[in-house]
Amino acid sequence: MTATLPPQLARLIRQDVQGMHAYAVQPSAGLVKLDAMENPHRLPANLQQALGARLGAVALNRYPGERVDTLRAALKAYAQVPDGYDLMLGNGSDELISLLAMACDVPGASILAPLPGFVMYGMSAQLQGLKFVGVDLTPDFELDESAMLEAIATHQPSIIYLAYPNNPTANLWDDGVIERIVEAAPGLVVMDEAYQPFASRSYLDRLTRHPHVLLMRTLSKFGLAGVRLGYMVGPAALIAQVDKVRPPYNVSVLNCEAALFALEHADVFHQQAAELRRERALLLDRLDAMPGVRAWRSDANMILVRVPEAARSFEGMKARGVLVKNVSRMHPLLANCLRLTVGTTDENAQMLAALQASL
Ligand code: PMP
Repeated sequence: MTATLPPQLARLIRQDVQGMHAYAVQPSAGLVKLDAMENPHRLPANLQQALGARLGAVALNRYPGERVDTLRAALKAYAQVPDGYDLMLGNGSDELISLLAMACDVPGASILAPLPGFVMYGMSAQLQGLKFVGVDLTPDFELDESAMLEAIATHQPSIIYLAYPNNPTANLWDDGVIERIVEAAPGLVVMDEAYQPFASRSYLDRLTRHPHVLLMRTLSKFGLAGVRLGYMVGPAALIAQVDKVRPPYNVSVLNCEAALFALEHADVFHQQAAELRRERALLLDRLDAMPGVRAWRSDANMILVRVPEAARSFEGMKARGVLVKNVSRMHPLLANCLRLTVGTTDENAQMLAALQASL
């Protein structure tokens, strides 16, 4: 709830900011939380304990120092960053999206992304005072190639975001269409691979074909949403420029140590991601068999479904202890759609039962 600002303060705050809604995190206490594409698995107890010991030994009195460079080097090796390319860190990829808008804020600059898509692309444009151009997907959630190419020609965007896979539709785009968009782009193209641990393809092996393409990833969906660590890979000279707008100590010593620990135990997270991909396949089978539900194929740890009445199903599921995301008001193409995060076997069973009972 926002209290009304007294006039002497209201004149200090931007009008458009006053008109905005704060990013809403749904209350989830006591509910099976399947609304935010988190990994439902915690670290195994022995690793959680080992991590506690590692974090306990971190000096908190110093600003983040060379451990951040160690983390960057570890991530460069982990993500197989090509020669001549570099990597910058963000406090989640959310921060990288904001920093990129800041760095590209030249007169007339705009940001373009398909819709429905991740809200931060539009928000970063608005907050930076850049124009945002949203291009609707086709009704089956594919890129509308001609509409994209036309919007690119008209608006000459400085940044095009392609979430690969997309949120909330969970699909990968057609690679031929991506290629033609990349070739037509007069500015940067960011391949946002937040859901890469669950995807059947990555853009990484095509990255060096085009010097204006950047790759963005996060450890959030991997299993470290609470840590807040995202990274962006691109040609070293370009990354060096964008890195200048990054607040100097944006990644805390605790984020840094936890991320280093996670990379040392990457196999555990890979096993969890594999388990979630198996759960996703089972969920899709069960959803396909549920009359009245349409479920789209997924390359992420979420499944978009259309139900007869999203508000009724959302509330009914919540009353039965399961929290999902009602995305039906995000965009007309998502009418009566819910976004379901893939959880543990038990959580998925509860979610399916709650959905079935709430249709
Ligand atoms: N990109 C996409 C497509 C996302 O869906 C999200 C989060 N839901 C992010 C980026 C941001 O992730 P984070 O800030 O947690 O790294």
